[in-house]
Order: sequence, then structure tokens, then C-alpha cells
Amino acid sequence: MFKRVLIANRGEIALRIMRACREMGVETVCVYSTADKDAPYLKLADRAICIGPGPSKESYLNISRILSAAEVADVDAIHPGYGFLSERPDFSQACRDCKIEFIGPSPEAMSALGDKVECKRTAKANGVPVFPGSPDAIEDEEEAVRIANEIGYPVIIKASAGGGGRGMKVCHNEVSLRSMLRVASQEAAAAFGNGAVFIEKYLEKARHVEIQMLGDKHGNAVYLWERDCSLQRRHQKVIEEAPAPNIDRAKLQKVAESAAKMIKSVKYAGAATCEFLLDEKGDFYMLEVNTRVQVEHPVTELITGIDIVKMSIAIAAGEKIPYKQSDIKINGHAIECRICAEDPAQGFRPSAGKIATWEPPGGPGVRMDTHVVSGYVVPPNYDSMVAKLIVHADTRELALDRAARALREFNVGPIKTTIPLHQRLVENTDFRKGGVDIHYLERLLK
Ligand code: ADP
Repeated sequence: MFKRVLIANRGEIALRIMRACREMGVETVCVYSTADKDAPYLKLADRAICIGPGPSKESYLNISRILSAAEVADVDAIHPGYGFLSERPDFSQACRDCKIEFIGPSPEAMSALGDKVECKRTAKANGVPVFPGSPDAIEDEEEAVRIANEIGYPVIIKASAGGGGRGMKVCHNEVSLRSMLRVASQEAAAAFGNGAVFIEKYLEKARHVEIQMLGDKHGNAVYLWERDCSLQRRHQKVIEEAPAPNIDRAKLQKVAESAAKMIKSVKYAGAATCEFLLDEKGDFYMLEVNTRVQVEHPVTELITGIDIVKMSIAIAAGEKIPYKQSDIKINGHAIECRICAEDPAQGFRPSAGKIATWEPPGGPGVRMDTHVVSGYVVPPNYDSMVAKLIVHADTRELALDRAARALREFNVGPIKTTIPLHQRLVENTDFRKGGVDIHYLERLLK
């Protein structure tokens, strides 16, 4: 096992990783920007090192500063968390060059799954269902038109190097496809330094279901079942749950087995998530693979009893996954509410500033993953998420009741949060029935 790990992240995930390390007897070094200098979780690290000013480019995204801190603190490994540098193959490579273990996949595995066109090819080769569309990057307009006629409109144009929901264009006819292809490619080149685009069938009504995967350095891979993350606003997940309600579990299992084959085929070591959209028939189509731990990992931890963050560290240290697929069982139901410092009554305007009142919920089946304490000042520089409230109960209905109860206890002020939105959602009859589509929340908010 590692002696000392550097955490190249901030906020709740930095604290989450620190907690895992502490329980494993691993020392922690946490880096921070000046905007986070008073963050209370820094006191829980064995050492905290300032790496620059508030803007992420000069701190949490600055590879050389993070590696300098790693050298100074003499760490064995770096955990990137999610966001920031977590999906950058050049960072994984830079760690390797410095002889520091990157807690996540090799640069090769990350590139193979991070590039959307290459990932689709690998998926297909392993029997993972993908959207009908262009098998490779689009070379010319006529080819795109021919494929679109074959698969039928609407189609979506995506950047091969894309991410974060950017650079996608939905086209309902040939005229818009022809004009959008050039725009999409130019935008992709400007945003991602790679103008390659491809097209696939666009699903008007879909659910988002993703499968949690773990791979190790000994060629093993398992799946920790699925999460439903269909409640989204502007492509950002709002509530996630596990397992997914009302789905065909035999279909899911078949897809999960192919996904395990896929990550084995690229010698993947670490936690990964295969994201899918489900059409109205409940058929799966792969969206992408996230090559890191995800925000919503706790719901899977609660239903499987497996600590995904500890596993990611153990795997990087060379340990074998200690579970066979048949050991991984689903126990009960878990729901996560992402609480953000935004005002839902004012168009989700960011609400940064001091949190004078912070009274989090507790009691049976309630888990709070947060870096916030009373008096914490939310810096304006970063993501607005201040807490993840996660509940676990025997059934979905009881988990929803428990979430409603916990949300009632949760008292925060004077900043505004999305707690009132979550209260409304956990009581919403359509959501309670299970199986809402990814545009449901946007329709509800209109
Ligand atoms: P990114 O890597 O930029 O997040 P994704 O491929 O994951 O891109 O897509 C982001 C979102 O766009 C999805 O969560 C989904 O809401 C929508 N989307 C992507 N592809 C399709 C599709 N083929 N049909 C319908 N919606 C899609």
C-alpha cells in the first residue's frame, strides 16, 4: 500500500478521498488554491500545500504546480478525484514520467476510452450496444448525409474529443445537417484542438442509466450494477439513484457483462462508468465512458457495500479486486440529492457567500458527503455543489420518504440552495413512479 497520497482536488471529493486514505492508514497531502485557503477539510490532511490563486488554470488545473507539490511532499501516488485533471491522459502520463502512481487508468486506457470515436469502436468490438451512426469521424458532407438518411433524422453531431456537453448539435433535416457539420467541426477544433466530428441517431425521449465498473492491473473487471441519473438540468445531474427503477434487468446484465469485457480489453485499472441512454423500448445505447470516480458514486456504495474510493486506491497500489462478480449483490435502494448553492426561485442564480447556518440532517440511513461547516464561505470560483445528501433504505419508496424527511431537517442560510427543488422532486408523482426521461425536469421547471 502507498505511504502517502496527494489529493489533486478540492471540496467534498477531496475530503472523501482523505477519509478513505485515513481508514487505510495512508497519509494525505492536499493541495489548495488561495480561494480555498480557509477550507476546514484542509486541517484534516496530514499536510496542505498551496499551489496558486483561485482560477483553476493557475491551481487545480496546473500540472507542473501539482507535480512540484508532489515532489516536495514526496508522495507515492496522486488521486485526481473528478473534474479538473481527472480525465487528462497527459496528466496520467506526467505522473508516470515522475514515477508517481496515478490513481486511475493508464494514459493509454484513458485515451482509448476518452476519445468518443475510438471508444465507440472498442465498445462495438466487445458487444456493447452503441447508437447507430457513423463508424468513424466524418470525412465529407455527402457521407454524413448518406448515413443520416440511413439511420433517419433527428441526428446529433458530436465532437470526437468533446466533453462536458459542449459542441453537440441536433439536426432534424438535411439542410441543418449540411450547415451544422462545418460549424460543429470548427467549434470542436477551437474548443478541443481536434475538429473530428461524427454523427449518431438522436433519441428524443431517453433515460440515463450508467454502469459502475472496476478493473484491476491483473486483468479482472467487475460491474457494481447501475445508477439512474435521468433527472438533469442543462445536462447536469440533479438526483441519482441505484438501482434504476423499472428496467429490464436481464438486458442490463447483458450490457454490463459486455462493458466489463470492454474495459478488460483496454487493460483498464481503476473505477470507470459506462453511460447509456435507454430508448422507450428500454434498449441501451452507450453514450461514453467516464474514466474516473463519479460524483454519484455513493449510491452504488450504499447498495453494494463496496467502497469505490478505497478500491480505486487499492487497485492503483496493485491489489486485486477482492470480489467475484457473483459476490456483488444489490441491497435496498439509495438516492442522492446534489445540493447546490443556487437559487431555484431565481433561475438557479449562483448564491456564493458565507453559510452562517448549516444544520445538516442525520438519523438512520442518511449519509452526508460535504466539506461545508457553519461559517464556511462558498468561493465563487468553482462548482456550486455544497453537499450530497444520500439516503439508503430497503425499498425505493422508503428511500424517497427518507429523503423527504432528511431534506426537511436540512437547514441552510442565508445563502440559497437547491434544497426546495429536491423537496419538490422527491414528492413528485411522476418521479415517484420511476422512469422519467432526461428532459422531464426541464419541462417541469418551465
Ligand atoms: P459529453 O461528453 O459532452 O458530456 P455525452 O456524449 O455524454 O457528451 O452527451 C451529453 C448529453 O447529451 C447526454 O447526457 C444526453 O443528454 C445528450 N445526448 C448525447 N447523445 C445523445 C443522443 N444520441 N440522443 C439523445 N441525447 C443525447
